[in-house]
Amino acid sequence: MQQFQQYIGGAFEDGTAQFDSLDPATGQVWANMPEASAEDVNRAVVAAETAFFSSEWAGMTASARGKLLLRLAELIAENAPRLAELETRDTGKIIRETSAQIAYVAEYFRYYAGLADKIEGAHLPIDKPDMEVWLRREPLGVVAAVVPWNSQLFLSAVKIGPALAAGCTVVLKASEDGPAPMLEFARIFDQAGFPKGVLNVITGGPKTGATLTSHPKVAHVAFTGGPETARHIVRNSAENLASTSLELGGKSPFIVFDDADLDSAVNAQVSGIFAATGQSCVAGSRLVVQDTIKEEFLARLKEKAEAVVIGAPDDMATEVGPLCTRKQRDHAMDLIERSVAQGAKLITGGHPVDRTGFYFPPTILDCDDARDADSLTNEFFGPVLSVVSFKDEAEAIEIANNTRFGLASGLFTQNLTRTHRMIRAIRAGIVWVNTYRAVSPIAPFGGHGLSGHGREGGIEAALEYTKIKSVWLRT
Ligand code: NAD
Repeated sequence: MQQFQQYIGGAFEDGTAQFDSLDPATGQVWANMPEASAEDVNRAVVAAETAFFSSEWAGMTASARGKLLLRLAELIAENAPRLAELETRDTGKIIRETSAQIAYVAEYFRYYAGLADKIEGAHLPIDKPDMEVWLRREPLGVVAAVVPWNSQLFLSAVKIGPALAAGCTVVLKASEDGPAPMLEFARIFDQAGFPKGVLNVITGGPKTGATLTSHPKVAHVAFTGGPETARHIVRNSAENLASTSLELGGKSPFIVFDDADLDSAVNAQVSGIFAATGQSCVAGSRLVVQDTIKEEFLARLKEKAEAVVIGAPDDMATEVGPLCTRKQRDHAMDLIERSVAQGAKLITGGHPVDRTGFYFPPTILDCDDARDADSLTNEFFGPVLSVVSFKDEAEAIEIANNTRFGLASGLFTQNLTRTHRMIRAIRAGIVWVNTYRAVSPIAPFGGHGLSGHGREGGIEAALEYTKIKSVWLRT
């Protein structure tokens, strides 16, 4: 049984309590994780606050912070196989995806390393001749970062990178479902040479998360997870009036017009929904397809979905692995049963795979006769695609926007003017045209409505970790 440790104030500790972590591919306990108590959370926040005001960190130049982030990026690249293996083992995310994503994690840290000394203030041309007025951009303070189980290394990197580039310090709470990659990340971070307490990594469930996000010394909460948890966090942070950035779920429309390149659209839809076994906030979980091509598109999609290789997450040949938890697998069953009872037609999948572990196959539901079906309206973190057809552009827009989420969207068409009209009309933080799921450290990422607020990636993310100080100087 492997033991993992939490990381507080630059020291590794077992924690006062521990919990078991299950291997989603077998359902068996494989590791022991430290569960942060309220006292541990408090020590982590105090360590982060002490570091924030320390001369080593507060007095460090921005370019020196950038150099440390660059060193971290190098260490991540050197340790990529170990990090990817641990994420696969503890969360069931397939090794193909964790190996590819860890390269991105290093890229994001490289990007924020370069950005650290480009976070600028401003000089204001005020209309008083004897005054100099300028704006200083200063770091917010202690950031509480809370992440879910899926893509933990990535979702943490997009918080830690810009926060440290801006000069903040961080307490990261890894998900209780699969924290191993983040606890290992702490070991790598420790070698990069940052002052003690700049990053602290703990884990535990909702109670630990609530203790952290309501801590009076926390200036900002950077959260990725579900909308219900986000509501708790906002209520908790109200006590301190801490700011929040919330990256929540989605019910992203994947819109295909009959003039689209169908091969490319089918391939993008397959990976758009079934990658990460559907446990992705940007999953294109609603196929909105023009009625003239619906039959052909569904036939092609069914063939591809049934050909997907389901297997062990640590096998490079596997394309769809297990869900992260038994609870998710059981939710998938419930959702399908309810949606079929509501009138949705099962095109493929829908029944648990006959093997040990939390497997569930790629599933497609035709919801044309059940437009209120739960699978079409509720966010669900699994490999379930719901399909509806449309007659014309106006109906495509109406269906696409018929959700309180607003994270991502996909649009497949060859018509340029329609593309521009659709981009304007779609209510989502991201519109991917003739592609899906593309990401880059340079491009901001985030949504509106129930998908949250704030941006990760790009310069916007770094600015979210800063506050403005106006300075007036009489000359
Ligand atoms: P969740 O909201 O249940 O948990 C997320 C994290 O919040 C976990 O670390 C959990 O321990 C913590 N938490 C739970 N209750 C808390 C509380 N009261 N106070 C503070 N922290 C608390 O989410 P989940 O089910 O683990 O993850 C899936 C959700 O995450 C989905 O809704 C998905 O769409 C979303 N997600 C969004 C993005 C994005 O970038 N927009 C990316 C990935 C996942």
